[in-house]
Amino acid sequence: MRYGQDNGDQFLRSIGNYFKSIFQLGEVYRYGGDKYVLMLKNNDNAKMMIKEVCNRFEKPFVANGFECVIPYHMGIVEYPKYATKSEDILVILEEVIKKAKSNGELIAYCDDVLVSRIKEKHHIIDILMKSIENDYVEVFYQPIYSIEKKGFYNAEALVRIRYDGKLISPGDFIPVAEETGLVIDLDMIVFSKVLLFLKKLENLGIEIDGISSNFTPLHFNNPHFADDILNMVKTFNIDPHKIKMEITESIFITNPREVERDIRRLMEYGIRFYLDDFGTGYSNWASILNLPFDFIKIDRSLVVNGDNNNNGLVILKAVMGALNANGQEILTEGIETDSQVDLVHDLGAKFVQGFYYSKPLPQENFIEFLKNNQQMELHKAVE
Ligand code: C2E
Ligand code: MG
Ligand code: MG
Repeated sequence: MRYGQDNGDQFLRSIGNYFKSIFQLGEVYRYGGDKYVLMLKNNDNAKMMIKEVCNRFEKPFVANGFECVIPYHMGIVEYPKYATKSEDILVILEEVIKKAKSNGELIAYCDDVLVSRIKEKHHIIDILMKSIENDYVEVFYQPIYSIEKKGFYNAEALVRIRYDGKLISPGDFIPVAEETGLVIDLDMIVFSKVLLFLKKLENLGIEIDGISSNFTPLHFNNPHFADDILNMVKTFNIDPHKIKMEITESIFITNPREVERDIRRLMEYGIRFYLDDFGTGYSNWASILNLPFDFIKIDRSLVVNGDNNNNGLVILKAVMGALNANGQEILTEGIETDSQVDLVHDLGAKFVQGFYYSKPLPQENFIEFLKNNQQMELHKAVE
């Protein structure tokens, strides 16, 4: 805090006093940190007070001789229109404030759309919690083609949830799982299933170089994460070289040193890393080129643009050229057509993943796929 802890507290006290002084018509509560709840009894009062508060916050507050215009966001929920219980109102308030922040607005109002979105989110949280508890989690495997080996010796593990007889894809629950932190348990469940599956493939005598699992950046906030992974690998007695962890560039945003230390520790043990979705977020080349990733996975959007238009092609060539020049192995994701296969092959990709070869498959279908197609020419021989 720019003004120090004491002065920060003093500013909060001034704000509290201000609210108390004007809110004879309603009630004021401070509920944690820098959050206040103001309860007003009728609509006319509310409108007047909102205006008054906004005007006041345009002017500085004073604490211990310091003056500061305090930035704020205000969320407004009508009672009893949108909720009647205080805990429901607080949940809605949190979401309205989030809406204000993400839209860069000072004030946001609750509306029907927001309420139905909150209900949907809580439904997903409910499904996630039940899935984690009752093991409704399934893992699909998408084969990855190796151009050098002319065959499929790698795969990516992708989570699915089977709920009420329906299969739910990660796009529908990963964002909520990330927001609530439930993704941490989910990833570990997926990872343990992958370890079991690697054991099964070994027992079946099916040769595979590795299976990659996706890990959210949130794991790297846990100081025991690397130990947990190593313990699991030892318990399942799996060759660590067969274990690949997919992470995205966003892990380097916060505590990059700790992240690098964990990654190096796991790498020393033989576990390999793929950098996922390269070219979608911000690309911090320095930290990326610093670590020996097994593959860099070029995102589908770059390949699609590269195949569709000249500007896209210029970018794809530049990105793949730079990675190749640095001796980095490239895997291109989301390949669907012959022309995309040719393009990425010509630009030096070593591995190709996409619906062109196969969609993600349930365990048994993936085993069948390998039994029938493990060796294959670059172009599918079916047509
Ligand atoms: P991702 O890791 O980049 O995985 C690739 C996604 O692209 C998968 O979607 C896959 O089905 C899809 N895909 C593969 N080939 C093609 C293609 O040719 N065309 C198109 N249009 N799509 C293709 P999916 O399975 O729905 O997963 C979406 C994302 O959810 C994943 O993107 C990953 O970020 C996340 N995810 C999946 N499983 C897990 C998990 O176990 N843990 C975590 N933290 N995230 C996961
Ligand atoms: Mg991935
Ligand atoms: Mg990806």
